[in-house]
Parts: sequence; C-alpha cells; structure tokens
Amino acid sequence: MMIQLAIGDAYGGGFEYAPKRMIRAQNDLSAYAQHPRFARAPGRYTDDTQMALAIAELMADEAEWTREELARRFYAVFARDPREGYARRFHAFLTEIDGPEELLARIVPTSEKSGAAMRSGPIGLYANEEDVLGRADLQARITHDTPGGRAAAHAAALATHHFARRDGAPEDLPEYLAERLEDAVWLEPWTKSVGPLGMMSARAAVGLLATHDSLSELLRACVDLTGDVDTVATIALGAASCSTRYAQDLPRVLHEGLEEGDYGRGYLAALDARLMAAVGLTA
Ligand SMILES: [Mg+2]
Repeated sequence: MMIQLAIGDAYGGGFEYAPKRMIRAQNDLSAYAQHPRFARAPGRYTDDTQMALAIAELMADEAEWTREELARRFYAVFARDPREGYARRFHAFLTEIDGPEELLARIVPTSEKSGAAMRSGPIGLYANEEDVLGRADLQARITHDTPGGRAAAHAAALATHHFARRDGAPEDLPEYLAERLEDAVWLEPWTKSVGPLGMMSARAAVGLLATHDSLSELLRACVDLTGDVDTVATIALGAASCSTRYAQDLPRVLHEGLEEGDYGRGYLAALDARLMAAVGLTA
C-alpha cells in the first residue's frame, strides 16, 4: 500500500496545480514529470506520503492511539526528513516548533483542507469498522477539527477498508460511504479542478475509484482532474492497492523511479510488510 500511495503522490506531485496543457502533453505514465515551478526532483514524494508514514509507522509499531502519540509521529516524520509540499503555514509551524508537546499546545485545528484525509488511508486496514472511524477521527481532530476536514478523513479511511476488508466492488464505494457516513454527498463525485479542501480531494478520489479498474488508468484520471492531484492520487492509489478488483499495473518505470534514500522505496516496501503483518493481512 505505501509504495503505491507514494507513487501516486510523487507522480501527481509533478502535476500539482500545473497548467492543463502540460498535463495533456505529459500525463502518460512514461516518467515522473518535472514540476514546472517547484525544484522538487521527479520521483520525490510530498507531504501526503510523509504524513501517511506517520500513521502507517504508528500502526506497524502497534503503538497506542492517543493524541500525544500521533503528535509525536507527525512531528518526527518531518523533523527527520524536512520536505516541501506542506501548506505554507503548516510548514512554517512545523519548522518553528520544538517538539510534539508544542505542536499540541499551539496548533489551531480549524483547517478544512486535505491534511487529515491525505494520511488517513492506512487506517482503513484495521479489521473493525468502528476502530477505523474512531481512529480516523482522532487523528483528524488534532489538525483538522472541522466537519469537512474530519469527513474527508473518515471517507479516505473507509475507502481503504471497503477494499481491504470487505472485498468491496469499486462501483459500490460511493453508496457504502453515503450509508456509513450518513451523507449523500458521497454519491456526487467531485469532477472539477481540485482545490485545497479535504472534501474536494476525497470526493474526487471516491468518484474515480468507483469508475476505474486498474491502477494505471486510475492514476492518469486523478492527474487529468488538475489542481491538488497529488492528494487525490495518494488517497485513490492507497485504497485501490488493497483491492483484488483493480489491475495492479503501475508501470515499472514508476516503481524504479520512486525516490531512494533513507525513507524512499526500500523503506516504504519494508514498512508495507510490517504494516500488513501488524494488522493481520499479507502484503
Ligand atoms: Mg502534496
């Protein structure tokens, strides 16, 4: 899961808020694109994967689900490997603070943006749906204690759960979410350019998950939406990677081009194995 999620993020990251004509010319999965404005190297993942690492590592370590433990992990993944891609103010905040205690003490958790949703996918691997929702909510409320920030995180976690634990069909995902989250908005996919709100990314990912059956086609479709497409692709590919219903056909060039280094693809592959073992699934 973490490998595919990171490939979605890194591939989408080359096209994040990029002009339509660049996307039309280069979104063919033949290579990671160089972002037209950011210096980030092609194949390097962004905040979406880094935040998901905080959650996935907590799960793999079978650590306790508390605000303090989550804050510790959010702080640690950034402090050990600072990188770009975070919302400007959150990036400044993470740079400024001295540790997880200060994170909890000073954070103003009123954001409706996608931060809580982008890291929520792995939580869906838990077998118990109540655990999935409770933990998705707990982590969301630390930084995004708003209706939209939380609902997007619930949906991203349940999307993974639908595939990993219910063997759900792609086309049944919107209805599952609408019923479980008691909100018909999940039946209405976001089909316009994706802005910064969590609900935009989550609704876009759900709509595309429901209408595709291969990871390759799903990834291209995420990027074609334009806007905050690295987040859409992170949520969508993380969920679809847990399903037998999608062709697991991401091109080799994207696997091989994903960043190496201390927290690159070797690290992600090893974490995937630990994560699946911790939740009683096989990778
Ligand atoms: Mg990002």
